[in-house]
Amino acid sequence: MSEAVIELNNLKKYFTINKGITNKKIYVKAVDGVTLTINKGEIVGLVGESGSGKTTLARVLLNLTKPTDSHVIFNGVNLSKATRKEMKKFRTEVAVVFQDPASNLNPRDTVMNSIMRPLILHGTPKKLAKQKAMESLELVKMDSRYLNSYPHQLSGGQLQRIAIARALVLNPKVMILDEPTSALDISVQAQILNLLLDLQESLNLTYLVITHDLNVIRYVSDRVAVMYLGKLVEFGPTEEVIKNPKHPYTEGLMAASPILDPHDRSKEKYLMQGDPGSLINLPTGCHFHPRCPYATEHCVNEMPHNIILSNRHQVSCFKYMSAVKNI
Ligand code: SF4
Repeated sequence: MSEAVIELNNLKKYFTINKGITNKKIYVKAVDGVTLTINKGEIVGLVGESGSGKTTLARVLLNLTKPTDSHVIFNGVNLSKATRKEMKKFRTEVAVVFQDPASNLNPRDTVMNSIMRPLILHGTPKKLAKQKAMESLELVKMDSRYLNSYPHQLSGGQLQRIAIARALVLNPKVMILDEPTSALDISVQAQILNLLLDLQESLNLTYLVITHDLNVIRYVSDRVAVMYLGKLVEFGPTEEVIKNPKHPYTEGLMAASPILDPHDRSKEKYLMQGDPGSLINLPTGCHFHPRCPYATEHCVNEMPHNIILSNRHQVSCFKYMSAVKNI
């Protein structure tokens, strides 16, 4: 049976801003009622356009910002009630790799110091920290001669390997990879993705991969979650979601991906119209209705619930309301 590592149940993260000359407070619903489980050893991809709430969701998962409602359960521990000891364990067990490694590495620190820093912050003696940094560099298949290099002496791919080595140095169980390859050249992207897949298998890691690139999702992830304006609109096994997307937004994303399915030109695909809406001025009812070719009056007035289709596949759309039971 699958063992849940991260559990979210109706998680919300709202921000308040003052609008206009009246200074009226309004809510920005960056994450609005997300229910999601990530199992041990699994790779879950999280996709959506800018402003969909992906990054805010990742920040809540990393405990960098508190949820407005509900909580993150990590390995059975409710993070909002976690003890100091449990939080310390959480901080070593969850690591993050960002899109642009150059901006996350101190230009004045050598590779050795950058990789050692998390260990030193956790009180590891310097000699042991050095040894672990060398082991970590080996894991990302980089030669120890780079230990004394500075970031400006390395290529984009090498910098991303250093960032991964630094993330691995505390021996994490879960890694959140935020656009891990989008700042890299296409040839280097494949190398980094293969490295991440090798590490996931050999270290039995659990990944949440955040990206706008559906080809990356298809290549690496077991399941894919699709977000639109703060809502999780579809979640299911990657192949199933990609070959047979249920939510019209997912369908639009697939159709907009030029090389995802070069052999399948037979199916009629629709191209999404309009811009992604704004979290500050959300459409009524289903947030996707202004862009949806299947929208009805019902969609304009009411928000669809999550519906379980089959094989752990869930979707939030009135089109499927009659077929299945609500969750
Ligand atoms: Fe389109 Fe209606 Fe489904 Fe929303 S609920 S995606 S508007 S059909």
